[in-house]
Amino acid sequence: MDLDTKIQDIPGIGPRFTKRLEKLKIQTVLDLLFYFPRKYHDFSKIVPIGELQANQEVSVRGTILSLENKKTKSGRVVTTAVISDGSGLIQAVWFNQPYIKNVLKKGDTVMFSGKVENDFQRLILVSPVFEKIETHNLFISEEKKELIHTGRIVPVYSESGGITSKWLRSKIKQILPLAYRIKDFMPDFILKKYNLISLGEAIVNIHFPENHQKLIAAKKRLGFDELFLIQLNYLKRKAEFQKQQAPRIPFNKTIIDQFLKSLPFSLTADQKKALLEIISDLEKPYPANRLLEGDVGSGKTIVACGAILNVIMGGFQAALMCPTEVLARQHFNKIKEFFKNYPFKMELLLGSLKNKEKERIKRGLASGEINFVIGTHSLIQEDIRFKNLGLAIIDEQHRFGVEQRARLRQLNTANFYPHFLSMSATPIPRTLALALYGDLDLSIIKQMPPGRKPVITRLIKPDKREEAYEFVRKKLREGRQAFVICPLIEESDKLGVKAATKEYEKLKEGPFADFRIGILHGKMKSSEKDKIMQEFADGKIDILVATPVVEVGIDVPNATIMIIEGAERFGLASLHQFRGRVGRGEEQSYCLLFSENLSSQAARRLAAFIKSKDGFELAEKDLEIRGPGEIYGIKQHGLPDLKMASLKDVELIKLTKSAAFDIIKRDPELKNYPLLKEELEKFVIMRHLE
Ligand code: ADP
Ligand code: MG
Repeated sequence: MDLDTKIQDIPGIGPRFTKRLEKLKIQTVLDLLFYFPRKYHDFSKIVPIGELQANQEVSVRGTILSLENKKTKSGRVVTTAVISDGSGLIQAVWFNQPYIKNVLKKGDTVMFSGKVENDFQRLILVSPVFEKIETHNLFISEEKKELIHTGRIVPVYSESGGITSKWLRSKIKQILPLAYRIKDFMPDFILKKYNLISLGEAIVNIHFPENHQKLIAAKKRLGFDELFLIQLNYLKRKAEFQKQQAPRIPFNKTIIDQFLKSLPFSLTADQKKALLEIISDLEKPYPANRLLEGDVGSGKTIVACGAILNVIMGGFQAALMCPTEVLARQHFNKIKEFFKNYPFKMELLLGSLKNKEKERIKRGLASGEINFVIGTHSLIQEDIRFKNLGLAIIDEQHRFGVEQRARLRQLNTANFYPHFLSMSATPIPRTLALALYGDLDLSIIKQMPPGRKPVITRLIKPDKREEAYEFVRKKLREGRQAFVICPLIEESDKLGVKAATKEYEKLKEGPFADFRIGILHGKMKSSEKDKIMQEFADGKIDILVATPVVEVGIDVPNATIMIIEGAERFGLASLHQFRGRVGRGEEQSYCLLFSENLSSQAARRLAAFIKSKDGFELAEKDLEIRGPGEIYGIKQHGLPDLKMASLKDVELIKLTKSAAFDIIKRDPELKNYPLLKEELEKFVIMRHLE
């Protein structure tokens, strides 16, 4: 047998199990070795019967004194065994497993593992697993090596597809020595420097750990491998990227200073820092690839504007791509105002424009006559070309796919790439960002512009709804505006048409009959959505009932009330985004949470939300409560499922990043590490397939 032996050639695996294993993508000995346990039972403590205590998970090694099956009145079979080890007696009990009486017999020496429980003042072992011990094995330490279900740390596998842990244990144990034949792709100096065990040893100990330390070391090694390959891949990608050409655009300090002075406010320290980082990117001869992260309302747009100005004044074009027309238009109007004193041509390219208009803009971009364009997906349509795009920016980058982002880089007729900047309001903690966006440079705006009043957030009990509505009516009469966000409740209602329409009708007929109500949902054409948003922005609508679409960057300072229905259905990140829609003006703003149905987890989440206004803090909480997958759509980022590592493991992420650096510094092409090179290529292909 060897690592590439087919599973059907492993003794004891017949056609039936071969099929089941293949469903789990296990075809060879090697695959089976890489099928890791889901968890472990710690049965490593072998305790003398006389010293047992209730509620322990233990192993007991003893001789069977008696064994019997009894039928209860309800027809259940109860098997009991009395076990002795010289230090005391204990009874083991199993339910509806009459065959045990045929497997064990009086006089057998057996290892039992399971939980000790209190049963009317005496201790019993409830449904323990057991393994007979060959009596010629006199030493416990000898026995331990043979035992696979008891008397040790026992692996528990995910039991999908009709394969039990018990079955897997015996098959894996049988092939385990082959693990030492796996060639270790990790360079020796990395193993030494980061204190890692060899791959073979890790595989052996992940299945049948000799002890706790070995298990920890095995988990560390295998988790390290996963994150390390991710980081190495990022570094390689980054290096590839940096081999390409981009224009060097010098920092025009005079212009930038002038621009900043012309603003009605001064930048926060974080904004200044971010702007400088972006501008110094532009001076490099290869394309920048940076992520600007900042909470909703932290003022990313103006930072982007500084960079855009620098690019245009340096003689190149700039483009800003937004996920929705509403947002594109809002940016356009705002930025136009910022740039009103500058002699350059700026255009708005939307899918809804007339063809003639589109053609005109296209021509302007190709000829270079247009210096700056803001647009939606229409910017990456096939026939768009720029004369010399120097900076491409994506707002709300998580709304775009990898392909779309890549497209935006390829629009130049000139033979260079634009510098690239993504902006995101999803506050991702820095370490997680390392794992998700390891190939990007990161700028973070943590501070909010001064003078913002924190939004007052309240959870409204069902019986206080009317009272809350009265409060809202009062504010509306004072001239303020409100959002009402409805969750998507029915599976069939993906676009939220039903949810929003129902709420809209209810409010229009009832509590807000005297006000102007608008509705926004996913089924509406984007031109309709735009129209409604515009009316809301212009104050022609008092209350806007919407599905979660408003999440994306809308700025209406007069809207001071955010009502969230079914608040328990949203994660902290979304709630935070919604709340960020208000609190943008001078007036005090409010966020009212309605929830009919609070689980304890939801209650915890909402309590955290009410308490904290800090997006990064909330993101960390969300990470704790729900795990990274759900919040950030890990799949979307092209990260493979991690089997061993956790994206919460900050230390390990840092270590692997530094290890990847060590390698690249020593040998950027991995010439001296062919095994590693091969492993990395396999990893990249896998990522592509997922
Ligand atoms: P986001 O980061 O969510 O995109 P915006 O860029 O839309 O935030 O900024 C939110 C609002 O804050 C805008 O009206 C913007 O003009 C204003 N703003 C930005 N920076 C500052 C600042 N340093 N001081 C005061 N107001 C600012
Ligand atoms: Mg924004």
